[in-house]
Amino acid sequence: MLAAYAVHVERSRGRRVPEPPHPYRNDFQRDRDRVIHARAFRRLEAKTQVFSRRHSDHFRNRLTHTLEVSQISRTIAGALGLNVDLAEALALVHDIGHPPFGHSGEKTLDACMREHGLAFDHNLHALRIVEDFEQRYAAFPGLNLTFEVREGIIKHSRDYVAKEHPELAEYLLDQRPPLEAQLIDLTDEIAYNTADLDDGYEAHLLSLDQIRRGVPIFDGFFHEVEQLYPDAPDKLKFNEALKRVLNRMVDDLIKNTQSRARESGIRTLEDVRHFPERLAAFSSTADAERRQTKEFLYENLYFSPALADEKDDAERIVRKLFTFWMKNPQALPHNYQEKAKAEGESLARVVCDYIAGMTDNFIYDQYEKHCSR
Ligand code: MG
Repeated sequence: MLAAYAVHVERSRGRRVPEPPHPYRNDFQRDRDRVIHARAFRRLEAKTQVFSRRHSDHFRNRLTHTLEVSQISRTIAGALGLNVDLAEALALVHDIGHPPFGHSGEKTLDACMREHGLAFDHNLHALRIVEDFEQRYAAFPGLNLTFEVREGIIKHSRDYVAKEHPELAEYLLDQRPPLEAQLIDLTDEIAYNTADLDDGYEAHLLSLDQIRRGVPIFDGFFHEVEQLYPDAPDKLKFNEALKRVLNRMVDDLIKNTQSRARESGIRTLEDVRHFPERLAAFSSTADAERRQTKEFLYENLYFSPALADEKDDAERIVRKLFTFWMKNPQALPHNYQEKAKAEGESLARVVCDYIAGMTDNFIYDQYEKHCSR
């Protein structure tokens, strides 16, 4: 049973190119499946989340991170009476616009673009992927996704200012996104905060003591687990404690969002859209715990010397390749050369699009080929 404030698929604003209904799947289920079958989705497997391919095959990459976000989002959406199919489609597509090399790749690509008076933004890039770059269907360019999925791609994690982005006018920038989209950003953070503690511990970059000292919410649960399973190996106690952290954040997000909706008198989707702020939120206590965990990860993992080398690599490789293709556009693949010739398209944007689509593996090969001499 869907809540009245959920997105109801039969009231979708529809696709750019109308299509006949499918006999077994509704429109959001079809969108979810189109994302799964997209090439950009498959490439997530070879894109760094935090740890590059050099570390280990059992750390998260962007694909497995995405699957975790999708699992958590389905649980939360279901518990809130939201549209699980829409939440799942949005979770699966949420990182599809990320360039290779995680955060460093994104930062460097943006810096390169700014030197040309432009910028790189992974949400806007994701929209270009699903609207244009994915060429799978004869009847339309891109994936021809419903309005609600495209809106969620743009609005799940930030609010774009209408004046600065006239090209996004159709996405109702003066309104809040539906709750299905609002929860994705918070779910994303639940997923990576817990996963990065896990991978950091597994990589021996974070010690158990360090995590217990720096993340009080984890320490509280670890203490509880020690009473329950005094003889269990540390790694299993660690897992049990981390699982409880994840459950705690999910539970808080569900209950706090529910009570905010109730207290604000939210009944319908239109109420959600016109409410002055986002309704999906952690309680202030859980939000403080979230912030503490994030700060701990910034201080102890994301900027740790063990990851510094590959960050330098990422910066050097992205920057050198960007510069190389700006100077040698004839070395771009033919279809990108054609794009660069199109009216109103800058070479910088085309080079940026090309790099942003690459996996870590592919960009290393390109670097070897063009820049290593
Ligand atoms: Mg993410």
